[in-house]
Amino acid sequence: MIQIHQRIIPKGRRNRPGRKNPMEFITIHNTGNTSTGAHAEAHSRYLLGDVAAGLPVSWHYTVDCREAWQHLPDNEDAFHASDGAGAGNRRSIGVEICVNQDGNLRQATDNAVWLVAELCRRHNIPPANIRQHNHFDPRSQNCPRQLRAGQPYSWAEFIQRVTSLLDQPTPQEQPPSQALHRVQLGAFGGRDNANNLILEAKRAGFSDAFISSGADGLFRVQIGAFRDLANATAQRDRARQAGFADAFVVTAEAVTPTPPQPPPAPRPTLTVEQAAQDIFRGRPAPDGQPWGTGATRRARLTQFGLDPQAVQARVNQLMAGR
Ligand SMILES: [Zn+2]
Repeated sequence: MIQIHQRIIPKGRRNRPGRKNPMEFITIHNTGNTSTGAHAEAHSRYLLGDVAAGLPVSWHYTVDCREAWQHLPDNEDAFHASDGAGAGNRRSIGVEICVNQDGNLRQATDNAVWLVAELCRRHNIPPANIRQHNHFDPRSQNCPRQLRAGQPYSWAEFIQRVTSLLDQPTPQEQPPSQALHRVQLGAFGGRDNANNLILEAKRAGFSDAFISSGADGLFRVQIGAFRDLANATAQRDRARQAGFADAFVVTAEAVTPTPPQPPPAPRPTLTVEQAAQDIFRGRPAPDGQPWGTGATRRARLTQFGLDPQAVQARVNQLMAGR
């Protein structure tokens, strides 16, 4: 897993055409730039710079051996597949893998595997729809050059690695064993007030706002549940910036129903005389266990709510025939 930084090309530039991208495919490239320092962030700066701004040149992500940078929203088209208004430019998400000589190609490609699996998962793109730039280019450009040459591994292995990542359960599918952090905007005794707050939240862009009603009769307005506290805190901060000053994070252990515990067994009431008689006659305690001797006996007498010294004094009397 790597961090995805975002630096989105401003609207209105030639390299942000802004048409709706149905995200049917993912197109894989190698950057072709082996220069020192030609890592993902450098490509981000290039795409935002004045030269690229006037060119039909853009794609969605660049990934290197450390991180990924996003340049365009996934659901917009771009210019990377050399196919004009074809499916590569208009209906795919473009991913460039860095080949800078001061980077690590294997790690960069592994990071691309992770990123591509993540995109497949987010947009429900089947691995069969991961394509090489070469596939879309009418002139069959040799891109992704390194992957096509088996560096650091074959195209088939690249696809296989993405597929096996997709076969792993997502965190959401794993049993709920961790705490869940929910971001709450408010809680109300009446549903109408909660509904009003939901409307406000949606107007402010929290389209997933929902009401959670609990056994206590309160209607809670929440905007997400997160496994990761940092994500919850970030969401809370977004809410506060949007004017929901009371937004806060509620953390609860995921509820695992526990079987009802049997009530504690009533402790038999026992007198000093009864205990002393038991010990004197070698009878077990009321719980069926022997009284024992020394420290064990004193501890057991205490358990039964008795004063060990008083019991021992009475045992001594009995042994003396009194
Ligand atoms: Zn390419």
